[in-house]
Amino acid sequence: MTRLALLATGGTIATRATEAGRAVAADAAELLAAVPHLPAPAEVTTLDVAGRLSFAAGLDDLAALATTVRAVAAEHDGVVVTHGTDTLEETAALLALTHDRATPVTVTGAQRPFDDPAPDGPGNLGAALRWVAHGRPGVTVTFAGHVLPAIGVRKVHTAALTAFAAPGRGPLAEVDDAGVREHAVAPDASLGDPPAALPRVDVVAQYVGADAHALDAAVAAGARGVVVAAFGAGNATPAVVAGARALLERGVPVAVASRTGAGPVEGLYAGGGAELARAGALFAGDLSPWQARLLLALALATAPEDPVGAARAWMARTGVAPGP
Ligand code: ASP
Repeated sequence: MTRLALLATGGTIATRATEAGRAVAADAAELLAAVPHLPAPAEVTTLDVAGRLSFAAGLDDLAALATTVRAVAAEHDGVVVTHGTDTLEETAALLALTHDRATPVTVTGAQRPFDDPAPDGPGNLGAALRWVAHGRPGVTVTFAGHVLPAIGVRKVHTAALTAFAAPGRGPLAEVDDAGVREHAVAPDASLGDPPAALPRVDVVAQYVGADAHALDAAVAAGARGVVVAAFGAGNATPAVVAGARALLERGVPVAVASRTGAGPVEGLYAGGGAELARAGALFAGDLSPWQARLLLALALATAPEDPVGAARAWMARTGVAPGP
């Protein structure tokens, strides 16, 4: 008998309408009871870890969830986490970065609430259970019939049922009532054990004419590192390039990711990305700014003597950065 665990954290998949707006109302057992086809033979244990909307989660909640998932994974053959879609890509990345690789873990959710007349949650959860029962180790996201790698996944639509994509990386598999069709396997993305706490790392957005005040304010507020959500392939305004250089000279790591939504960053342009690269910024491959932030935060927590070196080695090993 395959032993699966369902960890519910809240999100739209568990919401019902209230006067205040959608609110989390269904627990893990109710979510499971709504699934039309459970994989057989499997025994599913339910656990209510949290009951929040994911935009209200904090870094401590993420770190605690990573610890719980590791512990539950050690005792089960597969783990499904139900989660709000708004920050699902961040949770999935941290779970992948802190996974021990032995157990399949997948994160799912829904675009429509639990009390919708045609909800997508039960189908997504059923597919997620079927996917982890299939037995492929590693952390993924299962949504709208697709299995996507945790590293590289992004929410790409506010309302469509196909809410997630992993541009250039997925889907790894498709899951429906007929079973699993697997096309690819993502590299092992583990970097370290779940930390007791994650240090503050802020994301600073680039927009025409941006100055360095947000960079400086982030560090003044206690950020131990900063991610620049850069223009295009990794460029920033002259003021932000100068501000980033000043932070790097003070030993504050600065990572560069793109605000475009797909593709890798590179230090190409004089005065822009090339200047940031020369100053020692960490170019975060094709990671979104939000996933680059968690990579840097976990590297700061687990390799404080050389977080940028640890992040670079991880990027080379996982194919996030180009190899030889
Ligand atoms: N819109 C969100 C969801 O789909 C709300 C949240 O992230 O919790 O679950």
